[in-house]
Amino acid sequence: MKGRFGILFFLTALFVLPVMAQQKASSYVLVIHGGAGTILKKNMTPEKEAAYKTSLQKALETGYKILQSGGSSLDAVEATVRVLEDDSLFNAGKGAVFTHEGRNELDAAIMNGKTRAAGAVAGITTVRNPVSAARAVMEKSEHVMMVGPGAEKFAKEAGLEIVDPSYFRTESRWRDLQRAIREDSVAAAKSNAYTNPEKLGIKNRDYKFGTVGAVALDQQGNLAAATSTGGMTNKKYGRIGDSPIIGAGTYANNETAAISCTGWGEFYIRNVVAYDLSALMAYKGLSVQQAGNTVIKKVGDMGGDGGLIALDKKGNMTMSFNTEGMYRGAVTKDGKIEIAIYK
Ligand code: ASP
Repeated sequence: MKGRFGILFFLTALFVLPVMAQQKASSYVLVIHGGAGTILKKNMTPEKEAAYKTSLQKALETGYKILQSGGSSLDAVEATVRVLEDDSLFNAGKGAVFTHEGRNELDAAIMNGKTRAAGAVAGITTVRNPVSAARAVMEKSEHVMMVGPGAEKFAKEAGLEIVDPSYFRTESRWRDLQRAIREDSVAAAKSNAYTNPEKLGIKNRDYKFGTVGAVALDQQGNLAAATSTGGMTNKKYGRIGDSPIIGAGTYANNETAAISCTGWGEFYIRNVVAYDLSALMAYKGLSVQQAGNTVIKKVGDMGGDGGLIALDKKGNMTMSFNTEGMYRGAVTKDGKIEIAIYK
């Protein structure tokens, strides 16, 4: 009997322990996305590709430094998203897409997986870093979500940097709007938007991506998620997407995963994507990867497109998407950075 235990122990030490060590060493602590869409290598110049990679790298390094020095996942996701908001390449903060009326209306959310506290802002036009406004709502108010001028007033009172709305403007996003107005009207006429509203917008999906998000796991084992966006080019007055809606575009729960979505927001709201992923893990015992693939398939089956990033408490992650590409990156516990753009 004793001998058998000895052999068992020996075999465990030989095979199981090294695998466990390997898993631990490669567990992910921070995952980011910079939007999903028709991102094809043939449409990309080497300079543009390099610029995106440099930006994603900078964002990952920022968050990683915080996590490595023992900081919280909440601080890491906020700081990481701020870097991407300040970068005009992405559809969040500076460089956000335009509404039909030519405005930049920004949405953002943040969630703490340990306490399930959450904060969100929507339709704001003057706060330089919407993700920090979302965090202020979470920590300095008794509410979860604030919109428009009220949210701006609150952010100002919370001491956040306020900018002129023109700060967010970039010429390339302005040109995208002009193109979208032309193409959306053609698409609407063809599909008869009154009887078939689902078809609206399919044509110009190509230049609607660029939302940013981050999910992180800190040394205390706590998860957090944050998402920030300008929404979709040519969106109507007052339209709010999935990003600031807790459970749709953003969600975090230490028991399951931290999730940030990107894609055609209306489909993410209707499928309650981020919460659905978490629920599939909680109630059905799916892995983060299985749950991620399941919810993206649901979005696709309904006619929507996009992607998501999700990270569980063990540091397993998934980056599921049904588009041609998704700007994305991850860093493991040992500081190894991975960045990818295409399928
Ligand atoms: N999900 C965002 C929205 O619908 C847009 C995107 O991720 O590209 O507002």
